Amino acid sequence: MPAKKISMDEKYMKEAIRQAKKAAALKEVPIGCVIVYEGRIIGRGYNRRTIDGNVLAHAEILAIRKACRFMGDWRLEGCTMYVTLEPCPMCAGAIVQARIPKVVIGCMNPKAGCAGSVLDLLHEKGFNHQVETEIGICGEECSRMLKDFFKELRAEEKRRKEEKRDAREPEGQNDSFSRSGGPLSFGSGGGWA
Ligand SMILES: [Zn+2]
Repeated sequence: MPAKKISMDEKYMKEAIRQAKKAAALKEVPIGCVIVYEGRIIGRGYNRRTIDGNVLAHAEILAIRKACRFMGDWRLEGCTMYVTLEPCPMCAGAIVQARIPKVVIGCMNPKAGCAGSVLDLLHEKGFNHQVETEIGICGEECSRMLKDFFKELRAEEKRRKEEKRDAREPEGQNDSFSRSGGPLSFGSGGGWA
């Protein structure tokens, strides 16, 4: 039986996923992005917010920066962006500013996404540019990657707390540690805002 033929969208989303895995390897929230122009990847980026200590270091912004350098223009007309997670307000703004015509999104981000979840900046009629979107390409894989990441982070946090507690209280009197999933929970899309 011939191997299942994957679509172009899936092919480029896999590249974005590959970028996201680079972020995960650095213990960054795994979000990756590529920008394609005439069948060629002209910009790649993955989330480096913590490692760079820079709030601007989102996957999309880094990929846009590279794509602009390639194009020699701030306009990215004719380009398609592939991103593993629905863009935040900052990145959605940059996408509109760069006049990117199409964005392919892996999974949605109900807590911070601006392609329809919290706001819909990409389709806002009031702006002079609207973006065509395609949602759910490799969605399962993109969201599993995030869930696994946060699960592992929570487990690590728990291990650290237990180690600390064991060192402090050898009798283990304080067993009723409250588990705050808070800022690290991704179940409903938190943790990346
Ligand atoms: Zn962003």
